[in-house]
Amino acid sequence: MELSKINWPIFLFITIYHAALLVVAPFYFYYTPPAWGIVTIAFILYFASGISITGGYHRFYSHRTYKANKLAEIILLFFGTMAGQGSALRWSHDHRIHHAHVDTEKDPYSISKGFWYAHILWLFEKEKPIEPRVVSDLLKNKLVVFQHKYYPLLFIMTNVLAFLGAGALCNDYLGAFIVVWWLRLFFLHHCTWFINSLAHTWGSKSYCKEISAVDNYIISLLTFGEGYHNYHHSFATDYRNGIRWYHFDPTKWMIWLLAKMGLANNLKVIDTYKVQKRIIKEDKNILIEWVRQISYIKVDVLEAKIHETADNIVKKIAEMNALVDEYRQHKKQKAQKDTLQALRIEIKQMKKNLYQDWKDWLQLVNDIMKIQPLSA
Ligand SMILES: [Zn+2]
Ligand SMILES: [Zn+2]
Repeated sequence: MELSKINWPIFLFITIYHAALLVVAPFYFYYTPPAWGIVTIAFILYFASGISITGGYHRFYSHRTYKANKLAEIILLFFGTMAGQGSALRWSHDHRIHHAHVDTEKDPYSISKGFWYAHILWLFEKEKPIEPRVVSDLLKNKLVVFQHKYYPLLFIMTNVLAFLGAGALCNDYLGAFIVVWWLRLFFLHHCTWFINSLAHTWGSKSYCKEISAVDNYIISLLTFGEGYHNYHHSFATDYRNGIRWYHFDPTKWMIWLLAKMGLANNLKVIDTYKVQKRIIKEDKNILIEWVRQISYIKVDVLEAKIHETADNIVKKIAEMNALVDEYRQHKKQKAQKDTLQALRIEIKQMKKNLYQDWKDWLQLVNDIMKIQPLSA
């Protein structure tokens, strides 16, 4: 990297605190291990600042997946500031460009430039100016503009407050300084950076094969639920990243909880059938490619079966959506109870049929992928 292109303040900040931790932490832990109180506070603040990045900077500001009231926004912005990842404006700006131009030259943390570039090295490059059209909505938000203007000062203030508070509470200022501030920041930085590096490298692609983003639940454990990254890149307006109830996505649970407390609303969810349609489209291409490699059975018969099963489901989903629309229309016009009831029963039956078709499709995928080509 050319010296003139280096973002010196960020480069020095990150390298110096990493080096200092590397030297100081072993001695510190050996001679004066921190009290449990310090570790607990560090963990709580780690969680609060981390989830304010994923739930605040990412899903609220960058993607507008839900609406938050001012109190919730201030809390998210406060802890987000403490996370040391720049202002919400800059973060959202870069992230929106990442989504729009993923894996290309314009992607600010493109994985095509290597794992370490996407993880940390991109931060050492001089920032490109903020394009107002990318964040025109956020530029109207006074809180966001204020935080952007005074970010370095606010970062220091929030962290000094946290470390002094923890130090006073546990009577251990050194422990608070090292563990609550810098060690927490270290783990937080790397776990967030994993979303740009690991979550674009290691995992599966169920929703879109053309992009580098992957789904990996282990990454979700480290990133407050952001490991379902292939889904996220495919359906970025969904407030969830892990769409199944058992998917580990604490950010989704936090947003849901905010809504239950009346602090958030308008949580955007992508329709299940839309997601299924996408999966079928992706699977279909792979299956067709796969059967064409198999020379010893009737490829055209299999291909026809794949098309028939997939097209049938897509058709049924369209029919069901039309029926749901019809139901809504009738409801709006205050139709008779019997008509509404009949439509409801029909929709329920269609959903049941679709569930069976979906299971048949998964079985077909499974069966076909088990067939080995002759050369194997
Ligand atoms: Zn990404
Ligand atoms: Zn995103």
